[in-house]
Amino acid sequence: MRKGILVVVAAVLCGGCGTHPQTAQVAKVDDAARVKQAKEARAAAAKQVKANELGQIPVLMYHRIIDNPGSQDDRTPAKFRADLARMAKDGYVPITAAEFVTGKIDIPAGKHPVVLTFDDSSPSQLSLDELGNPKPDTAVAILREAAAKYEGFRPVATFYVTRDMFGKSTPEEQAQTLLWLKDNGFDIGNHTLDHVNLRSRSRDEVARQIMSVQKMVNKFAYHTPVTLALPYGNQPRKQAWAQKGNGYAHKGVFLAGYTPSNSPFSKSFDALNIPRIRAMDRKGDCTQFCSTAWLDWLKDNPDMRYTSDGDAATVAFPKFKAPTLRSAFASRSLPY
Ligand SMILES: [Zn+2]
Repeated sequence: MRKGILVVVAAVLCGGCGTHPQTAQVAKVDDAARVKQAKEARAAAAKQVKANELGQIPVLMYHRIIDNPGSQDDRTPAKFRADLARMAKDGYVPITAAEFVTGKIDIPAGKHPVVLTFDDSSPSQLSLDELGNPKPDTAVAILREAAAKYEGFRPVATFYVTRDMFGKSTPEEQAQTLLWLKDNGFDIGNHTLDHVNLRSRSRDEVARQIMSVQKMVNKFAYHTPVTLALPYGNQPRKQAWAQKGNGYAHKGVFLAGYTPSNSPFSKSFDALNIPRIRAMDRKGDCTQFCSTAWLDWLKDNPDMRYTSDGDAATVAFPKFKAPTLRSAFASRSLPY
């Protein structure tokens, strides 16, 4: 009854309203149609490049970049250059671990993200000359060469640091190195103070190992690590201890092996157990599960690989994959 009266009153009041309500309604319909059209156009563009933002992403794990490798973990400058050339040729664009775990994947349409990680903060990864330039053949110098050479190849990576701090012993030199990384768009992650096997440590010791590095990175580079790489890939007795403790909260925890990672937009993404791939040729125990083998596999299985639609605000994928989308990203979804 009350509703009826209101309608009558509104009709009376609007007797002299002219055409305004109607105009507003038409505009609203136009807006809705435009939004729908724009979304359809974006979906068509995503389909065109076979976007698959629920596909897999390789996270490569490097250690030292040195001429005379001492172990299977080391890579020569020449091999690292060849790795980057191959990635650029295959359509990969580097993103940082922090960007990856927070879903900020801003690369051109048709390209594939790759996360380059460097463990143990060795001087072979970054040493600066007296003018603040990276020395030749360090990982950072080689990465920047590649970015200058291959169009669209971003010179970014994540450095998982320990107390070694790139071989720098004074607080001033440590500050210079960490600040340089931050100022040049590189990402600094946590790898624990003493590179300890966390599996056998108490909760307090796990927290101390993590907090000590976080404090150094905070103090020297005004940065809080977003992610942690577990030394030897070993979790503490309770996984949650590595992710969160008094004073720290990581958005991602990385392991040491042996497969590409799920997309951060996929339900199967496990932020506390993100696999990485050792950077190595197809030989010995790397015949199947290191970087060359996996990059070959992803090339041969392009439907399995993450391909961007070029719009960082959307999560684009073939419609039938919709059930595998993480609900947190539903509002950004662009199925086609
Ligand atoms: Zn390590």
